[in-house]
Amino acid sequence: MRELHDLDLRVTTCRACPRLVAWREEVARVKRAAFAAETYWARPVPGFGPADARLALVGLAPAAHGGNRTGRMFTGDPSADFLYAALHAVGLASQPTSVRADDGLELYGTRITAPVKCAPPDNKPTAEERDNCRPWLIGELELLRPTLRAVVVLGGFGWQALLPVLAACWEVPRPAPKFGHGVSFELPALDGGAPLELFGSYHVSPHNTYTGRLTPDMLQDVLRRAARAAGL
Ligand code: SF4
Repeated sequence: MRELHDLDLRVTTCRACPRLVAWREEVARVKRAAFAAETYWARPVPGFGPADARLALVGLAPAAHGGNRTGRMFTGDPSADFLYAALHAVGLASQPTSVRADDGLELYGTRITAPVKCAPPDNKPTAEERDNCRPWLIGELELLRPTLRAVVVLGGFGWQALLPVLAACWEVPRPAPKFGHGVSFELPALDGGAPLELFGSYHVSPHNTYTGRLTPDMLQDVLRRAARAAGL
């Protein structure tokens, strides 16, 4: 538990990607008008949730005025509203909202993280930035490995970024499993331990949720299946 806490602290000091460091700090200087009175976090955003999580939710990267502002993954923006309403409905979160890092929110057996820990311009990290950040998530998943049994990936970009990370502990088939909403694959563990069940879901961004491409029922269905696979 201590080791994951240490990793979370260390990642917040990372400055390995000059473009992302400049962007996260620029966003914090300029701010969005609605948050003009706030001090933005403007640093890498660590994973959130218990060190003995059985289920992980993986996006792509923090949002400029969400995680980059509040310092917690999926906190303080419309994506967070949609995601936490579903997590609470299926019993994985203590509250249906995620507004501020000190709002008392708890996740049950679940950790939320991302393969890129800094907010990128246009929500698009470069391949080099994604590769720079990979060791952080590999380290995080290796520490979760004793209990982790299922992962839900939010969106195809996160899926592509996560597969090489998973290959550190689990066998990723070739050709690689294809992303789709509701797909699932069992990945055998490289050390002969418990396998990992990998699930795909459309991302909870407004682009998908405002258009009805992803509905609350669709997301809850994937979360329920993943929670069952994880033994939650
Ligand atoms: S994206 Fe990852 S590797 Fe790059 S600066 Fe942020 S934490 Fe460091």
